[in-house]
Amino acid sequence: MNILDLVRPTIKTLKPYSSARDEFQGNSDDMVFLDANENPFENGVNRYPDPQQRTVKSLLSEIKGIREKNILLGNGSDEVLDLIFRAFCEPNQDNIITLPPTYGMYSVLANINAIAIKRVQLDDNFQPRVNAILEAQDENSKLLFLCSPNNPTGNSFEAKAIESLIRTFQGIVVIDEAYIDFANEESWISRLEEFPNLIVTQTLSKAYGMAGIRLGICYASEAIIAILNRIKPPYNVNELTQQKAIAQLRQNELTQQQVDVILKERKALVDQLEGISYVSKIYPSDANFVLARVDDATKRYNQLIQKGIVIRNRTTQPGCENCLRFTVGTKEENEKLIKIMTQI
Ligand SMILES: *Cc1c(COP(=O)(O)O)cnc(C)c1O
Repeated sequence: MNILDLVRPTIKTLKPYSSARDEFQGNSDDMVFLDANENPFENGVNRYPDPQQRTVKSLLSEIKGIREKNILLGNGSDEVLDLIFRAFCEPNQDNIITLPPTYGMYSVLANINAIAIKRVQLDDNFQPRVNAILEAQDENSKLLFLCSPNNPTGNSFEAKAIESLIRTFQGIVVIDEAYIDFANEESWISRLEEFPNLIVTQTLSKAYGMAGIRLGICYASEAIIAILNRIKPPYNVNELTQQKAIAQLRQNELTQQQVDVILKERKALVDQLEGISYVSKIYPSDANFVLARVDDATKRYNQLIQKGIVIRNRTTQPGCENCLRFTVGTKEENEKLIKIMTQI
């Protein structure tokens, strides 16, 4: 498969904007920068940020064991996903395949970009139906979104199913690994060399505890990263975000410790939910949330709101009738949730 054949013609021939900081990267302190019309008085953010976020990438490269050339960063995963749409999907012509129930952003971005959506519902165990997906694809199917661990169901997809989809799908397979740091499964980033049509996205919003800074990560072949680099806004990751990400990634043991606590709390939460009379099913979770079926999701959701606890009602999602999604909080928060759920 030649990846360039999948790229939109306008993008293939696009000449990217060259910013001042792209043209000259100096790192010595005695250089004089009069190239970007910045205010010269230092306040920590008076200069444009590094458009290639080199320091953040070098830390991620070390932590994840992947070369910097295979990384692109964005203003949250949402921007990364949008760049993927704009690189590969021709408006009013191409389509994508999503597997509901899943993350809502794929269809929102498809709608914004005037891209049709083919939906192939997950099976009763929330696993992809490989044959049905392959039957759904046509010559205009450019992207297949696999969210694993999946939101809102919490489970990881079987590696065998994912691999056969990557091997047989005729477009780009995007694996959204927003929750991978909570999972037992391996990340697919170690398989990028093998599969030229694979893109893996991750984020600092969940396990890394930095939803507020908006930093999304895209891992792919050098060829795909080069294409996405052409269309990304030059300064898409701001200076404050880069500084905060660098500080957090430098103390990565802290993230690992927090993940361990969240996993322990997830187990405690599941044990406690099992004792609630109106909880009929708790789905296995590889993420920092738990999906559970109750007698009447909307009633229970409203009762919890009344008591000051906000969870997510997923009852309108296909296959999720009467299901609620609980994010794993601190020990105290989870205990408060269970206490109130017992009372109501
Ligand atoms: C939370 C989440 C993200 C993260 O999005 P950001 O824009 O990076 O905060 C991505 N994908 C899924 C499935 C999510 O649940």
